[in-house]
Amino acid sequence: MTSLSDLPIRDDLRGKKPYGAPTDPVRIQLNVNENTHPIPEAVATDIVTALAGAVMSANRYPDREFTELRESLAAYLGHGLTADNIWAANGSNEVLQQTLQAFGGPGRRVLGFPPTYSMHPIIASGTGTEWVVAPRDPGYEITSKSVVAAIAEHQPDVVFLCSPNNPTGTPVSNDAIAAAYEATDGIVLVDEAYAEFSDRESALALLEGRPRLIVSRTMSKAFAFAGARVGYLAADPAIADALRLVRLPYHLSALTQAAAVAALAHAPEMLAMVDDIKLQRDRMAASLEALGFTPVPSEANFVLFGGVSDPSELFHKLLIQDILIRDVGIPNHLRVTAGTEAETTAFLDAMADLRALGRVDK
Ligand SMILES: *Cc1c(COP(=O)(O)O)cnc(C)c1O
Repeated sequence: MTSLSDLPIRDDLRGKKPYGAPTDPVRIQLNVNENTHPIPEAVATDIVTALAGAVMSANRYPDREFTELRESLAAYLGHGLTADNIWAANGSNEVLQQTLQAFGGPGRRVLGFPPTYSMHPIIASGTGTEWVVAPRDPGYEITSKSVVAAIAEHQPDVVFLCSPNNPTGTPVSNDAIAAAYEATDGIVLVDEAYAEFSDRESALALLEGRPRLIVSRTMSKAFAFAGARVGYLAADPAIADALRLVRLPYHLSALTQAAAVAALAHAPEMLAMVDDIKLQRDRMAASLEALGFTPVPSEANFVLFGGVSDPSELFHKLLIQDILIRDVGIPNHLRVTAGTEAETTAFLDAMADLRALGRVDK
């Protein structure tokens, strides 16, 4: 049997690990921060009708410029943005990859602030971009002072700021983002995958007059469309021109474009559960705290909580009850996605039982 190490793979990929969130089907799946509410049936019916139309003309390549989708996304974001400001791809991970293909690459570096989204270093490695890191402030925050100091030290070509941050749920203030922009001649990308769950002003408000700033978003989380694979960014139109140099032709299929446009026409219904998810998130944090754990204040749809003596043991005790959460590798911490009210209750009941049984020590 041939193993990976027998192949003439690039030296810089030797020994690397792929993205590895478990995908076993379980009753209560709270591990990858999806919106766990299904798509409303009336919306699904409209999407199916749009897909049927797209299938009829699938003998032709799709609109390479996905103009209608860019118009729909600009209207959804507001902030005076137009289709020219928008770029989209198959998930925001592809948007990040194209960004590093255009602005990173061999001999260049991207700066991140761990603990952060596990895909950021993986996308860096896939594009041959060096991943350099700087520490966060207490409470997983990033102050203007720290971000400016980190940029001065590392001289990155690209800065990745994740706000609210995965896996901590902590935001980066627009002041710190603006300070980062002033401190570099490179690209500053704010990954706002969870923006719809935060009450804070988006970094979209900073775009005017900052042509090296990129705000990336996704339909995978609040928008309940993870399976469709649609991510996008807002930036100066010149950024889209840069990404046109690295994208594959017709990268967004006609089916993806049709489905996303139809879903965006129903944005209020698709986002209807966001307020409830925020309520469940806050209930989760309060209940975990009452059980003696230490939740990190979250502006996303998940909660990172500390005070876990043995994360792997607690993870597996939940898994045998068919409840899947996430061990993100932070000592004494686990992360859990806010689910429906019933899913959240099932998780909290299981946690209370484990605590009562004395199986989990602080
Ligand atoms: C989930 C997530 C994404 C979304 O990825 P898609 O490819 O759009 O599904 C992007 N950034 C962060 C920080 C995430 O947690």
